[in-house]
Amino acid sequence: MREALEDSNYNPSSLHTEGRRARAVLDSARQRMASLLGARSNEIAFTSGGTEADNQALLGVLKLAPPGSHVVSSAIEHHAVLSALDRLHEEGVTVTLLPVGSDGRVDPAEFASALRPTTFLASVMLANNEIGTIQPVAQLAAIAREHGVLFHTDAVQAPSWLPIDVAELGVDLLTLSAHKFYGPKGVGLLYARAGVPIAPHVIGGGQEFGRRSGTQNVLGIVGMAKAFELAVQERPAASARTAALRDRLAAGIQAGIADVRRNGSADGRLANNLNMSFAGVESEALLIALDLEGIAVSAGSACTSGSLDPSHVLAALGIGARWQTGAIRFSLGRTTTDMEIDRVLRTLPALVARLRQPRAQNQGDGPTKKPNGAPLEAQA
Ligand code: PLP
Repeated sequence: MREALEDSNYNPSSLHTEGRRARAVLDSARQRMASLLGARSNEIAFTSGGTEADNQALLGVLKLAPPGSHVVSSAIEHHAVLSALDRLHEEGVTVTLLPVGSDGRVDPAEFASALRPTTFLASVMLANNEIGTIQPVAQLAAIAREHGVLFHTDAVQAPSWLPIDVAELGVDLLTLSAHKFYGPKGVGLLYARAGVPIAPHVIGGGQEFGRRSGTQNVLGIVGMAKAFELAVQERPAASARTAALRDRLAAGIQAGIADVRRNGSADGRLANNLNMSFAGVESEALLIALDLEGIAVSAGSACTSGSLDPSHVLAALGIGARWQTGAIRFSLGRTTTDMEIDRVLRTLPALVARLRQPRAQNQGDGPTKKPNGAPLEAQA
């Protein structure tokens, strides 16, 4: 990125020498991304991130669909997909949101029976951002293809942990976001197989094959391509190492703390994700207590602008309210160490015990009010 900043920080659409230099850097990043994804260069359009790519996939494809079209998705998609589906619903598109099992997976048979003659597009994420569950995307995409239905997958959470090849997955559209694989924030892409009808979502100068106007974020794109290359190289070792740390964390929590449950599938999940519920604890209070110890976790979905609305993902698992209220997401990464896992395991039991005490005993011992003034005490 530094090299691109110093040598090629010009407009890649300009015809002068410097512009052509920026174009060459951009083209090479696109070529690298495409070949690592098993795609062709002209099938990759860079965007400002995962949200824009998801929006473009759904709104752009459905814009060209016949009137009365139907779209199938799942109840646990990211809001970037769900909000686009809300918009489509308002515009007259029929939307089916498939439920998931208690393990967080979409049932392929249920998916097949949801498809109708009017179904134009299906969108099911490769891996969930809250519970890490991996969906049987290749199987679902094959079913969609048999029915002549286009298939989009939001693969934002996957690159550091799962192989992604658009031909092997059999998908028509795929979303990526660089910051989920150690690239810069504010850059992503939408793969759209050649021939997939897609209306541009951002219009203007016609960049990105007319699919996404606006001068490209060349530095961000260069950073994304390098980060993706590294993610692909490091994936096998990083996944095995991270999954082992994650499993040690899960086992240690289960051995040291009563009344906990693991959310999502035990095996079919991302190597770095552990979502656990602590009965009798409100996740927000535990998040703050852990933060004061220098341990960063999430409750619900961190992407929702710091809001801690009840998680639609946990609700879709059909788990009881007390488990939904006390859910914490531990996200490990390439740099997570054994010592850090030890520290969480040493710190957590006392914090959970303290938060489980009746409120009177708890007062003066940590935060007792939500920011909005409501009591922090666990809900039923
Ligand atoms: N899709 C999933 C599964 C995500 O986890 C996220 C962000 O966390 C997004 C989409 C949105 O990506 P971005 O933050 O790049 O807009």
